[in-house]
Amino acid sequence: MTATDTRSPTPLSGIDVWIFDLDNTLYPASSNLFAQIDQRMTEFIGERFDLPWDEARRRQKQYFRDYGTTLRGLMTEHDIDPIEFMDYVHNIDVTPVSPSPELDKALERLPGRKIVYTNGSCRHADNVLARLGIAGRFDAIYDIVAAGYVPKPDPRPYADMIQKHGVDPSRACMVEDIARNLVPAAALGMTTVWVRTEADYARPDHGGVGHGDHIHHAVDDLIPWLVELSGSVGK
Ligand SMILES: [Mg+2]
Repeated sequence: MTATDTRSPTPLSGIDVWIFDLDNTLYPASSNLFAQIDQRMTEFIGERFDLPWDEARRRQKQYFRDYGTTLRGLMTEHDIDPIEFMDYVHNIDVTPVSPSPELDKALERLPGRKIVYTNGSCRHADNVLARLGIAGRFDAIYDIVAAGYVPKPDPRPYADMIQKHGVDPSRACMVEDIARNLVPAAALGMTTVWVRTEADYARPDHGGVGHGDHIHHAVDDLIPWLVELSGSVGK
């Protein structure tokens, strides 16, 4: 970052709105909830189009690549009802996620508003936040329905989210495991935190994004980082 860069990130002590991705960010990727959702998506497509598993799987991954989410592909190409789809795929067992009193405490101490911004549904977010024991720490959930079914990293819902929730991006920080989803946040002037992952699709070099200026902080494990941060800037 050079001295002339007008997008130098705001120090974390100056942040008053925290925007957290949900899946694989607020709980570890090792909980593997997405494997269940992924499986339910394949089942949905297989049942809907009467396809064998392998073909349903191939189609699902094609939609994800072409449209950013499987849902977007199904809506665009087949006019699928998004509520029906989400109710089906988010009907999963969240017990692999462990309740986290540490995370709850860190969020309580961290000053400022907190928003969950997810490509999933409110119902899924509510389930996971309740399981983690942190539901009471968030002021709002901005889900895929609020976003008009336009997923991250399309820049339009980011602009809509900050407008709807009165967020000043120069005083906001976004925390996310999929590096490319931080590109629009940084472009708006937010400070960004990438929760490191080994998954190829989430890494900064995926899709030619590069190890660019859109990642201001990178952390291996959200909870110890947040505990330390909330201890230094918190109440
Ligand atoms: Mg995520």
